[in-house]
Amino acid sequence: MSVAGRHVTGTERLIFTPDRAVGQLVFRLWAAAPVAARRGSAQAVTSVAVNGRARPYSRTSPTVVRIPWAGRAGTAITIELGFTLTLPVGANERWGNRGTTSWFASGMPLLAWEVGRGWDVEPPTTQFAEASTSEEMRLERLTVRHARGLTALATGGPVSSTATTLVTSAPSVRDVAVAVGPFRTASVAGPVPVTVGVTPGLPDRPAVLAAETEAYLRAHVARFGPFPYQRVVIAVLPDISGGIEYPGMILLGTRQDHDATLSHELGHQWFYGLVGDDQARDPWIDEAFATYAEALDRGTSSSYTSFSRLPLAVRGRTGQPMTYWEGRPSYYLGVYVQGAGALLRARARDPRLFDAQLRCYVAHNAHRIATPADVARDLTLAVPELRRVGAIRG
Ligand SMILES: [Zn+2]
Repeated sequence: MSVAGRHVTGTERLIFTPDRAVGQLVFRLWAAAPVAARRGSAQAVTSVAVNGRARPYSRTSPTVVRIPWAGRAGTAITIELGFTLTLPVGANERWGNRGTTSWFASGMPLLAWEVGRGWDVEPPTTQFAEASTSEEMRLERLTVRHARGLTALATGGPVSSTATTLVTSAPSVRDVAVAVGPFRTASVAGPVPVTVGVTPGLPDRPAVLAAETEAYLRAHVARFGPFPYQRVVIAVLPDISGGIEYPGMILLGTRQDHDATLSHELGHQWFYGLVGDDQARDPWIDEAFATYAEALDRGTSSSYTSFSRLPLAVRGRTGQPMTYWEGRPSYYLGVYVQGAGALLRARARDPRLFDAQLRCYVAHNAHRIATPADVARDLTLAVPELRRVGAIRG
């Protein structure tokens, strides 16, 4: 792909072997979701070929592209797409541009398949959140072309890099993030290599953030198991408040070292990254656990475990999908705070057993999409509390 200011053009080629018969192929264009589109974001598929032949396709909603195709379970399908992406300016989003700094994640058409279920076509959300679902893929090669004088940062381990091209690859990731700009950078080798890039004009110090990242990762690795990727890349960007997690890469707002954001987004490398979820159907499966990770790291558990912070209207609603939270400002309290509180109260009963069960849950559900039933099966100690907050039903 080529990145130039607001404009990204590229091709993607993927080999998809469905685990059940398909009558169509479905891709999501998340950059065309309404909130970003209002700020000038746009995304389009410009060509489709399946097994080497051009195919018709239709865009059945702003974020859904369908390609008619009959395929059998277990038979590989090679799909090649051309796409364009126009980045918004001034959006607090995973897509953005300021001058020569450009960033995007979920920026390539994303295959909407969920193993064991089929196509996920839930609507986008207007919350500062995701509604995407993606199984893992072997990222053979991600090529990012850019203007001379800029630095490209991206998901995956670096394969090669020149003044105008970065190539990365990754054994198993469920999505990709990219940032290009005149970044100030710092790296630490550590057990998990960390690279931080800061957009010029922002006060953040890359070496300080890299050291903080390393410390948070040490704590997370001790609790949840090995870091799932070759390295972690952090791009500090304008217009983002908070942070947005992607496999092996985090898009971070400025001055987030003062709060829990960095620890939280790093927690997502295990919860959303390694153990995936349908972020539209079960947003708590990544957000409650990332908030839990952050609370343990920062010693802030007591601010989550009390029910007094929770408005009556959100009590028992942690398990609701993003469609329920549409237009409800209580999403954060209902899902993040209430969900993390349930996990933290459960852990308090027997921290050693809870930590062991959670490591088993992570190992058992790694590289797949977990459901509430998977949590209930592996994290039995948390089931009563998770029932109480409505995360697990039945
Ligand atoms: Zn989160």
